[in-house]
Amino acid sequence: MPGNLLGIHALVLTGEVDADAVRVAADTAADAGYDLLEVSLHDLDGLDTATSRQDLASAGLGVVGSRGLAPDADVSSDDSAIVDRGVALLRHSVDAVADLGGSLLSGALYSALHKYANPVSTVGRSNAIAALAELSSYAASRGVTLGLEVCNRYETNVVNTAHQAVCMADEIDADNVVVHLDSYHMNIEEDDFVRPVHEARERLGYVHIGENHRGYLGAGHIDFWSLFHALVNVGYTGPVTFESFSSAVVAEGLSSDLAVWRNLWDDGGALAHHARRFMADGLAAAHPTACRS
Ligand code: MN
Repeated sequence: MPGNLLGIHALVLTGEVDADAVRVAADTAADAGYDLLEVSLHDLDGLDTATSRQDLASAGLGVVGSRGLAPDADVSSDDSAIVDRGVALLRHSVDAVADLGGSLLSGALYSALHKYANPVSTVGRSNAIAALAELSSYAASRGVTLGLEVCNRYETNVVNTAHQAVCMADEIDADNVVVHLDSYHMNIEEDDFVRPVHEARERLGYVHIGENHRGYLGAGHIDFWSLFHALVNVGYTGPVTFESFSSAVVAEGLSSDLAVWRNLWDDGGALAHHARRFMADGLAAAHPTACRS
């Protein structure tokens, strides 16, 4: 049976994005058996895309780029100057993903990643949809798909549920826009771990696997078995990426945006090996056994 590509967020292994850090993270991820490395694009200027592209390829890894926007560069703003800066940041990010050899840019592409003080306005949501519709054409020209990650209410006010992501994707109306579900956020916002998968179904293009406290898989209370079963039942064949954060590995800015205050683990390498086995075993166990005559 064809397996999902399994990925790991680089912040399990390093908080830096320079060529040396990406190479070490790639080698560690490959050693743990992963297929993909997710690179956060929080420091675009610090990336060495040409060198890292070679190092990722040498390690036999695919790459996914991820990010949220910023308060002064936010396509869901009512202020057109702030929207324009958000669009420029997204185009730069599409270029970074393509230059790294990747084909997926995902995350909170539709807003800043922080606790908003108010609901998104009608104008702000329309601005985000228009910006992403325009960006999707540019991304297609560079062979990049855009993922709308469903994030919890404390990190965005635009897309908190799978239903909202599907609605936004329908309004953007582009073939290279997919929905990205994350068990950590689903635990806060969704009814359960099954309905959102069925809701997204053919739009689903990326999945993050994280515990409720973003530490060791199985150490918290997320019902991963329901999620794995749902993914298998809808025939999801896309990538599944482990995401975890601890104060042991810090990326300036991003770690604070994500409220990573606690030390949930010290050894990212050991965590990476454990999570790879957890996801592979869970997905394999979720496949129905063949009928026997
Ligand atoms: Mn995530």
